[in-house]
Amino acid sequence: MVFYQIKKCTSDECAYCVINPPRLPEDIFQSLHFVPDPVMRDGQYVVFDDIYGTETDDSARPGLQNVQPTSETDKELKKILVASMSLYFSSF
Ligand SMILES: [Zn+2]
Repeated sequence: MVFYQIKKCTSDECAYCVINPPRLPEDIFQSLHFVPDPVMRDGQYVVFDDIYGTETDDSARPGLQNVQPTSETDKELKKILVASMSLYFSSF
């Protein structure tokens, strides 16, 4: 799954933000943060309010928890698969 978030950068160098400054009141705009990545602590996910506005990384995202390492057998079989695929496609 891929998602993205957009927030005006408000840089003086940014042509878009110079022409279109944030319409929110300054104090509310400054209180906006990007949605944090899930953070695991003591085997449980940390409550949103505790990590909102902090620096997070995606190391605790659920999709990374069950990644199977590639076995030596899989690596050997890959060579056979690639070889037979190139034979198959070269027959046309
Ligand atoms: Zn900008």
